[in-house]
Amino acid sequence: MIPAMRPVVIAGNWKMHTTPSDAGELATTIARRTSEPGVVRVFCPPFVCLPAVRDALRSEPLAADVALGAQNVHHELAGAYTGEVGAPMLVGLVEYVIVGHSERRRDFHETDALIGQKVRRVRDGGLRTILCVGEQLDEREAGRAEAVVRDQILGCLAGLEAGTSAAPGPLEAAGSVPWLTIAYEPVWAIGTGRTARGGDAATMAGVIRAALAEVGIPDGGESIPVLYGGSVTSGSIGEFLAEPEIDGALVGGASLKPDEMAGIVARAAVTAAARRSVVAASRT
Ligand code: PEP
Repeated sequence: MIPAMRPVVIAGNWKMHTTPSDAGELATTIARRTSEPGVVRVFCPPFVCLPAVRDALRSEPLAADVALGAQNVHHELAGAYTGEVGAPMLVGLVEYVIVGHSERRRDFHETDALIGQKVRRVRDGGLRTILCVGEQLDEREAGRAEAVVRDQILGCLAGLEAGTSAAPGPLEAAGSVPWLTIAYEPVWAIGTGRTARGGDAATMAGVIRAALAEVGIPDGGESIPVLYGGSVTSGSIGEFLAEPEIDGALVGGASLKPDEMAGIVARAAVTAAARRSVVAASRT
């Protein structure tokens, strides 16, 4: 496939913010402000807010193609795991699940092997995974960033059989959206106000796709969207989307701010339109 055929994705990770009583209104406000052709929008509120957000978005015409995502999932399907949520509980409620976020790696000691089990559960449930990878600051300063990210991809995905497609949902309207998306999130950029440079993120996207090829992802990972994450704002998104290897963003803090999301998705729509032109030209 040609890279321009990859979808442009803006996913918002709401983390531990909002309540069931205010999340629906925030979601509809953001949906109204971000309705742009060709951009896959994914909202990832806390588990307990998912039904409220789903119900609110159903009554908002400009949210017809907004996908919902969970921020985490347990690595087992069901069992004596107090307080946890298994993939079967999410089927029918979300289309995406964020897996391997650095805050879970740091605070809950999640390993690549465990994260790989989660990816499998999500995939087997017919849902889409946003798999987060990224190096720590000391690893970058030691010149090890690329090796760390490669090892994370291999550690999470090696042994996973070739991909299946997720169940069709509203996202199909935005084009072909694969079951796997990678979010490159340098840990030192998350919630710090610091961002990577666009060129560094693009280089890492190449490293990620090479690693995806190593684990046997079809077409060498060319069809897999790679997002950048780490203090993305409406002011910084352009630097990342100027890189053809980068297909969107996983947005944390700014994803709760309608003005910020409006700017981010508007810029993403420019990239989506440019990609549509390239694809159309390649077919003539
Ligand atoms: C994130 O939590 O995935 C993230 C990128 O956060 P922020 O945009 O706030 O750095």
